[in-house]
Amino acid sequence: MEKREVAEVLKAPAPHMVGDGFRVHNFFPSGYEIDMNPFFLMDYGSKIEFSARKNPRGVGVHPHRGFETVTIAYHGAVAHHDSAGNSGVIYPGDVQWMTAASGVLHKEYHEAEYSLKGGPFQMVQLWVNLPAKDKMSKPKYQGIKQTDMPVFNLPDDGGKIEVIAGNYKTISGAANTFTPIDVYNARLRKDGKAEFIFPKENNTGFMIIEGSVIVNGQENAKADSFIYFKNEGDLITIEAEEDSVILVLSALPIDEPIHQYGPFLMNTEAEIHQAIADYNQGKFGYLEE
Ligand code: MN
Repeated sequence: MEKREVAEVLKAPAPHMVGDGFRVHNFFPSGYEIDMNPFFLMDYGSKIEFSARKNPRGVGVHPHRGFETVTIAYHGAVAHHDSAGNSGVIYPGDVQWMTAASGVLHKEYHEAEYSLKGGPFQMVQLWVNLPAKDKMSKPKYQGIKQTDMPVFNLPDDGGKIEVIAGNYKTISGAANTFTPIDVYNARLRKDGKAEFIFPKENNTGFMIIEGSVIVNGQENAKADSFIYFKNEGDLITIEAEEDSVILVLSALPIDEPIHQYGPFLMNTEAEIHQAIADYNQGKFGYLEE
């Protein structure tokens, strides 16, 4: 089996604030011009200490159409409400997989009790594109607790792979997806090893959340960096130099045109105009601020 080589180890771009609750590094599409299709966007909220506050920080009501938002918590807690009537709180290790599809309004805030106490906060938000045929499907919400996550235990007490979506060896992931997508949290102990095999055509990248790893026996990547792989070869190996957490992303690209305008991700400009018109006419429903 041929090794899939590292294209680049990317450092976190300068951060910006999303609302007043999320200090994020946008690795793509703004930070780096890399092809992670069907992952359209990745905002990485590196670890930050928030002071205690009565009114939770966050982002107020805003729309989405044409894709899914996937939020993964590592420290702190995030509360979500949307106009499809879904709500939930995610704590460290939990995942929220929200399918905006035909359109929702939602708001994302620090969870009330976390906000009152303050403390470390670290998360990732991905925008996962949908194929044209599913862009106008019904919105849905999958709240996945870490305790319900299917797990593959690595040999030699090396740690575990939490399978959020897709498949890792014999284990199937918790989330339902529209296209073939693998998303895992790999939690390796010091000296723990793991191997990953993905189809060549998959776009693949590893976000190092915590710790330090050696990739393919040669390249080192530390916390807050993103390992972007070439579309050549199939086998990736990692070895942890210390206890480490790695967000593993690999997916089959969706070979369709993309038109983005702010929170709308469609195939054509006409569909963007339609999204704006529908939003202005209140067709995304209602959500209280
Ligand atoms: Mn949002």
